[in-house]
Amino acid sequence: MNIVVIGAGAAGLTAAAKLAKSGHQVSVFDHNAKPGGVLMGWQKDGFRWDLGQLLLEGMGPGEPIGDVLTDLGIIEQIKTLKDDRRYVFPDFSITKPGTYAGQNWRMKVLKSIFPLDADGLDRYWKDYMRFTKLMTIARKIGKSSGINGFWLKLRLLAALFPFLSRQKWNANQLMESYFPSEKLRSVFTSILADFFTPPSQFLGLGVFALNPEPSFDSRMEKYLPNQGEQIFHYSLPGGTTHLVDALVNCIEQHGGKIHLSSDVDGIQIIDGKVSSVHLSSGETIPANLVLASGGAKETFLKLIGEEFLTHEFIQQVKDLPLMDSVFMVHLGLDFDPTPYTGGVCTYYYGTYDIEGGIIENQKHIYHQGRLGFVTHAPSYRSDEMAPAGKNGFTIYTICPNQLADGDWESQKEFFADQLIQYAEKHIPELSRHILLREIITPLDFCRITHTEKHAFGGLSPIMTKGGIPHKTPIQGLWFIGQQSDGGGGVGNVMAHAHQTAVKIDLDTRGM
Ligand SMILES: Cc1cc2nc3c(=O)[nH]c(=O)nc-3n(C[C@H](O)[C@H](O)[C@H](O)COP(=O)(O)OP(=O)(O)OC[C@H]3O[C@@H](n4cnc5c(N)ncnc54)[C@H](O)[C@@H]3O)c2cc1C
Repeated sequence: MNIVVIGAGAAGLTAAAKLAKSGHQVSVFDHNAKPGGVLMGWQKDGFRWDLGQLLLEGMGPGEPIGDVLTDLGIIEQIKTLKDDRRYVFPDFSITKPGTYAGQNWRMKVLKSIFPLDADGLDRYWKDYMRFTKLMTIARKIGKSSGINGFWLKLRLLAALFPFLSRQKWNANQLMESYFPSEKLRSVFTSILADFFTPPSQFLGLGVFALNPEPSFDSRMEKYLPNQGEQIFHYSLPGGTTHLVDALVNCIEQHGGKIHLSSDVDGIQIIDGKVSSVHLSSGETIPANLVLASGGAKETFLKLIGEEFLTHEFIQQVKDLPLMDSVFMVHLGLDFDPTPYTGGVCTYYYGTYDIEGGIIENQKHIYHQGRLGFVTHAPSYRSDEMAPAGKNGFTIYTICPNQLADGDWESQKEFFADQLIQYAEKHIPELSRHILLREIITPLDFCRITHTEKHAFGGLSPIMTKGGIPHKTPIQGLWFIGQQSDGGGGVGNVMAHAHQTAVKIDLDTRGM
């Protein structure tokens, strides 16, 4: 069984590792000279920064990605550190207390800022605990069978009950049911800006999943009083390249091959079934199965061609709700900015109007940092990310792929200056401490991801729309990665790629 995997990003590497470990002959082809897709990292003059992640959810043992890494036998090779993020809004910030103050410290802080919303915060907290328990049961069902599985399903039904009347609400409706204050509502939905998803189009109950409390304070206990199990966020000391290296080693140790600087420019179909892939070098690689990651439009409309697909499927690919891009500035600094940022990763918001900001972006208007930006300090957790005595620092913000006015290349230096100026409002004299800077525009991200339109985290989680299913209508062709049904984020793509590989392995054994 020859299995070809297109793309050596988080999705392609995870699926290839599982399939190679299960004894299949696997060849991975990737456009870039380095593996990892957006996890490949970035470096210059002794500084190293991450490119496609800040904090990763669920990397610990017994957590979703930890389970994948355990199954692949590589969990010991990847250093992880529980970590948290800080939020700064125009007139207040949410900073974890110096001394740990219990699981609901954030509710207490918010009550002190929004006393009129105290009752709503209590109700939110109660529902957060219920929702976390619901998710805990759902995860356990995925790992169990027989009478235990049956019992868990009954418990799931009971846990679902309090949410039934709200299951179709959008995020605005859910937030309005708790909080009169518009500012407080956006505390819980602001991260949707990163998903390019207006709160009015995001599934309300998903708000609890957007706000796992340990992601604001990594000292938190795992179990809630109702036994709901919380999942943590992690920094990867040494950067994402350690994760990439571990996956690559796993593939190669089990006989898989990774071909870099290799573009797949066609997937051949014979009698409705994949037969081979074609490389831009002219080579044809026979394949019984193909797992494609990367862009959906690029895969289905270009590598395959509309003549092999139904009208409905083509429409689904064309209508796929994709995120837009990011504009990123990596800095090498001669001082430590974290006393001002308050930690490894800080989200700064310049507005409470999340919906309005996303709509502005849809009109191709770039806010230049005015509406918000994120900072990440890779060397805060890891000395190896910067030369001795120096610090790496990243500032990025969401942006449209194409600008209403002008182009990215000619304006990138100006945009970098603007972003640094906005950051300087929080980090005094930042610009005086810059030793070097690397600018990454949406055009660079298109090149790295080998897509015509960069979608930062892949599929936008719009409540009425789904992604492309992993099992495609073409026999032998599977679609994985951040534009597939599983959606984006390192954790999601790894978990879904792993599940897809498990399914393929089981199917082929039954053949
Ligand atoms: C700035 C930024 C910050 C992020 N922050 C976080 C975060 O904090 N937490 C989190 O969980 N996620 C985060 N993400 C999202 C996460 O990194 C991605 O969802 C995930 O890594 C995508 O993996 P992938 O394998 O689907 O795609 P990619 O990483 O894009 O990999 C696909 C690979 O396939 C290759 N390819 C495509 N087509 C072809 C072809 N025809 N021939 C050969 N090669 C091809 C591409 O070149 C690429 O190398 C962030 C992303 C970005 C950009």
